[in-house]
Amino acid sequence: MSLIRRDPDSGNQDARCTGQRLRLEAHPAPSFPELDGRHPCFSRGPARQGRLHLPVSPSCNIACAFCRRDFNPVEQRPGVARGLLKPDQALGLVGRALELCPEITVVGIAGPGDTLATDHALQTFERVHAVYPELINCLSTNGLRLEELAERVIAAGVRTITVTVNAVDPEIQSRLCSWIVWQRQRLTGVAAAERLIANQLAGIRRVSDLGAVVKVNTVLVPTLNDQHIGAVARAVKAAGASILNVIPLIPQHDLAHLPAPTPGQVAAARAAAAEQLPVFSH
Ligand code: SF4
Repeated sequence: MSLIRRDPDSGNQDARCTGQRLRLEAHPAPSFPELDGRHPCFSRGPARQGRLHLPVSPSCNIACAFCRRDFNPVEQRPGVARGLLKPDQALGLVGRALELCPEITVVGIAGPGDTLATDHALQTFERVHAVYPELINCLSTNGLRLEELAERVIAAGVRTITVTVNAVDPEIQSRLCSWIVWQRQRLTGVAAAERLIANQLAGIRRVSDLGAVVKVNTVLVPTLNDQHIGAVARAVKAAGASILNVIPLIPQHDLAHLPAPTPGQVAAARAAAAEQLPVFSH
């Protein structure tokens, strides 16, 4: 299980924090002065901080069409973990990791399922924050339960939150996610999409108001949302997001038949987003 990351470059397709850095030339001054030099995702230039990812969240409450989660020791792709840690095991691991790597400034939880679909991530962050209040806790989520849990998230020391928002048009979103479970009800199609989008934007608004820095990940899916990235950026900016990361689709699962975006499509999507918000680039 690879848990200590020092500025990895790879984008991630699900609701994960990535190690991509701010485009320096577009941001000569720190956009996030309180995080510059402390959080590799929000720092300019080569990162010197370490980040620890804790795989504690076992399940998910939505079904993204491109997501195929698995546990195995072989694959190195988004959605795959070697195993799962319990909150107490995760706390012990943070202590051991800090002994080995005192440069660690960030503890992130991004999966392998959704971090707010179960209690495991918040229990872990609460334990970590109680013992290591100086660390930045960093959460990635699909946003379905973000507004509902916002106060508890912030109280657990979470300062940076990544929300994956792939569309703000329910018709488009309904083709990117086949179902959600919300308040014990399974919703499908446009009804699921409308609920997810509304909750994502309300969640971003709430945690931004509470002081968190919000990054949005958007998976770029050719033929589905490639002409829609500017609209996503506009909506999440209005809700309070500070930065957007366009992540090229890895064709798999229900979207295995689609092509991966070309470099030109990725550049066009980033340019459309950059009209609204700062964007990440490799
Ligand atoms: Fe997979 Fe759930 Fe993340 Fe979607 S939100 S990419 S289904 S883990």
